[in-house]
Amino acid sequence: MDLRDRPQDSAFRAEIRQFLQTHLLGEYAELGGRGGSGDETYGFEVRLRWERVLAEGGWTGLGWPVDHGGRGASITEQVIFHEEYARAAAPGRVNVMGEGLLGPTLIHYGTEAQQKRFLPPIREGTELWCQGYSEPDAGSDLASVTTRAARDGDEWVIHGQKVWTSLAHQSDWCFVLCRTDPDSRRHRGLSYLLVPMDQPGVEVRPITQLTRTSEFNEVFFDGARTHRDNVVGAPGDGWKVALATLAFERGVALLGHQLGFGRELNRIIGLARQNGKSRDAVIRQRLAQAHAELTIMRYNTLRSLSGIDGPVAPPEASIAKLYWASWHRRLGELALSVSGPAALVLVSDEGAGPYELSEIQRSFLFSRAETIYGGSNQIQRNIMGERVLGLPPEPKGDQ
Ligand SMILES: Cc1cc2nc3c(=O)[nH]c(=O)nc-3n(C[C@H](O)[C@H](O)[C@H](O)COP(=O)(O)OP(=O)(O)OC[C@H]3O[C@@H](n4cnc5c(N)ncnc54)[C@H](O)[C@@H]3O)c2cc1C
Repeated sequence: MDLRDRPQDSAFRAEIRQFLQTHLLGEYAELGGRGGSGDETYGFEVRLRWERVLAEGGWTGLGWPVDHGGRGASITEQVIFHEEYARAAAPGRVNVMGEGLLGPTLIHYGTEAQQKRFLPPIREGTELWCQGYSEPDAGSDLASVTTRAARDGDEWVIHGQKVWTSLAHQSDWCFVLCRTDPDSRRHRGLSYLLVPMDQPGVEVRPITQLTRTSEFNEVFFDGARTHRDNVVGAPGDGWKVALATLAFERGVALLGHQLGFGRELNRIIGLARQNGKSRDAVIRQRLAQAHAELTIMRYNTLRSLSGIDGPVAPPEASIAKLYWASWHRRLGELALSVSGPAALVLVSDEGAGPYELSEIQRSFLFSRAETIYGGSNQIQRNIMGERVLGLPPEPKGDQ
């Protein structure tokens, strides 16, 4: 991939810069780029309004085909968008699940009616989505899903429990992996249902995290209903659709995530300069290493994105996930070393509470989750062991 802008890339870069300069003002600018991963409860209402500003400007559904209401942006253009977005410290997006995961899945596997019904409100930021995969006994081993759905006339009726459902409390809809063939085992007999959240059969219970906020939830389905047409792919074929969604999770959006890391590293370097820790030889070495590894991460991501037009497939996706999540966790630890004893106390603007986590503390705590969600480090290593190194496969289930 040639990293220099071609004339058309420069024009695209100028267009997004111009848009951000003229729209990222007032309450949107005041968010200072917050509201990203692990910080999604911050400034939610403002970020929701911002999503609609982006939509009106034609900056949502960036990579979606034009036929589906998207902008049809190339991978290069999407990279440029994410670079400029991060550079301008624009707010964390509210509908990553809808735009980045469900949208592309519907474009590939949805019926025309589903695309017409669900894609426009995702693009306009008027319907938010969450992902109902994990269950108390089905996390890494997703094929153990036991939430079940059965047909009753024109509807599916759903019973079961999901857990760690990010943003369920703010979502209008959930894409739910359910067992629709009661006699099936493992990945057979599953279906991918689109379920409205605002109904009596759905109960959302927030889970308080280490960061003291509640970005994710338990979700209980007790006779929840959805129309029989709200199944993506054929009934019983949900595993294939669910895996496609997971692959989209690891595409270009990942790059945006990584660009935010650069800002974070700069903040830590700034702190080290300010509190004198930059004179500590070991800290200097760790900061330099973090910088070098971040640069490697960026080039590797660009390399794996170049020449593709869709999700990043394994094993590149696994290598990238293991690398960035582990890097960010180490960065959190480095940030605490740079902070020194101040890392251990909460601060208050007024000096008399409320006592809040600093951005550094919050990021350190949340980074512990990043080596778990989207496939834990151990699972990524299993994938690499089996698919890259050709080691014997891990025994699964009853094998
Ligand atoms: C912040 C956050 C947000 C999330 N958001 C969502 C969401 O929106 N929707 C959703 O559906 N889920 C979500 N999840 C859930 C996430 O996908 C699961 O946590 C993850 O898949 C791991 O599953 P688990 O928690 O059940 O852990 P387990 O699968 O029980 O794993 C426990 C430990 O055992 C290890 N382990 C498990 N199996 C193996 C193996 N075969 N070989 C080696 N080691 C193994 C794991 O690496 C881990 O260390 C979220 C999680 C987090 C932390």
